[in-house]
Amino acid sequence: MNLTGKKIAVLGCGRSGVAAARLALAKGAAEVCIFDSNPQATCADASLCFVPGAGEQAAQAFAPDLVVLSPGIEADIPWTQAFTCAGAPIIGEIELGYRYFTGRIIAITGTNGKTTTTALLEHILLQAGRTAKACGNYGYPLCELALLPEQPEFAVLEVSSFQMETIIDFRPEVAIWLNFAPDHMDRYTRVEDYFNAKLRVFENMSREQLAIVRVGEDLPGLTPRVVEFSSVSRDGQLYYKDGSIMEGDKPLTLLRGTTLEQAHNAENAMAATLACRAIGLSDETISAGLCSFCPPGHRCETVAEMDGVLWLNDSKSTNLHSTEAAVRSQTRPIILLAGGKDKGLDYTSINPMLAEKARCCIVFGQIAGQLVDTFSPVCRTIRVATVDEAVSAAAKEAQAGDVVLFSPGTSSFDQFTGYVQRGECFRAAVLKTLNL
Ligand code: ADP
Repeated sequence: MNLTGKKIAVLGCGRSGVAAARLALAKGAAEVCIFDSNPQATCADASLCFVPGAGEQAAQAFAPDLVVLSPGIEADIPWTQAFTCAGAPIIGEIELGYRYFTGRIIAITGTNGKTTTTALLEHILLQAGRTAKACGNYGYPLCELALLPEQPEFAVLEVSSFQMETIIDFRPEVAIWLNFAPDHMDRYTRVEDYFNAKLRVFENMSREQLAIVRVGEDLPGLTPRVVEFSSVSRDGQLYYKDGSIMEGDKPLTLLRGTTLEQAHNAENAMAATLACRAIGLSDETISAGLCSFCPPGHRCETVAEMDGVLWLNDSKSTNLHSTEAAVRSQTRPIILLAGGKDKGLDYTSINPMLAEKARCCIVFGQIAGQLVDTFSPVCRTIRVATVDEAVSAAAKEAQAGDVVLFSPGTSSFDQFTGYVQRGECFRAAVLKTLNL
């Protein structure tokens, strides 16, 4: 890609936008300007040209040769389209970074488990003495990596469906497809659009590259070589049985007693194992990395165990699929705390599992009414307003041997700034209730 003498519009002034602008300038662009539609937006780098509150007129007047989109800004909205009126192509920040990153790329996508798997892969690679950085949706923007004087050997790149909408040549060496379930129905009008956007991660891959896919995912025929993993059957190169990752009859890594022992995390661990093998790490090195990993917080994280009751914070569960995974992974009777913003999802598919495993459900937030209607035919369901009230109700309901699972199953924006604040609220309420 030759940016020399080009005029570049970068849309969005967050960390990715700033990195993209710096990279474009470093690669010889004649003029680079960051635009943001929010009049209150600020730019972290005062040396960059920056237009907050930019309208469509400013966009048309700038008439760029290339438009670079930050993740989260949609390509097909009128505001973005105004920048392309002179025929400029649009690429995403990942595509720009890809063109200048000199290292190897492992991409991770899926509805759930991306961040855990990205952090896990980075951890294993670093433990193995290789240079690697988590980036993309989690960690550094890829453009920031491409700007480093010494680029790492590996970019472990978490990619969202939104980011895949704006690739052109992007081609990872290894791509992991963890799972797929409906989500983001506030952004996509059809589930197929969300699915097809994610599927683009494989678009430019050939037989030289590797796709790592969960058994049972309904994907079309893929061009790259495919290896599979499963936590529910013996199918696939690797599977999970009695707390161990297995290959044929051979146990590879004992996950029981580690932070990855729950079935959904075992899937992340198997995907990471296959990726690390593909780039040449030994099974011993991989096992050591898996066993010493500490996942990022708010993902089925233990808050307390008191009087035989285990309290788990899974605030990062922002869709039904992750709550299903968390419920499936529990071996104790469950008191499920769920609720939050209405994202247009249908929750009925979890009912058979609730009927089997839940002692009761405590629901809160904007979708509480919908959840009462959905869950109460199969499980006693108590409606409260807030997370604090949900914790108080759970403390009354819980019996020794139970797990109180805070796995909201939707986003938090009706009452919180994000899943971190929601998880911290849960943690504080538990510690207060238990006098810890
Ligand atoms: P993402 O980055 O895709 O949102 P995270 O690793 O942040 O994924 O986890 C999001 C939620 O999904 C958490 O509630 C976590 O417990 C759950 N989760 C993690 N891995 C998986 C998986 N492989 N399948 C289903 N749910 C998972």
